[in-house]
Amino acid sequence: MDKKECPGCAVEVDTDAEVCPICGYEFPSQPLSFKIAAWMMIILLLLYWVVF
Ligand SMILES: [Zn+2]
Repeated sequence: MDKKECPGCAVEVDTDAEVCPICGYEFPSQPLSFKIAAWMMIILLLLYWVVF
């Protein structure tokens, strides 16, 4: 599988690893958080539309 380099300890870890198993560095998962932010916006808009 794909590997990514940990900026904390320069060890290659799995791309889908959220935390480095060597040093505990937390990788920022930007695509996922972007999806969550988009869903939050949709939910907020829906709530706004339902309330008013
Ligand atoms: Zn590391």
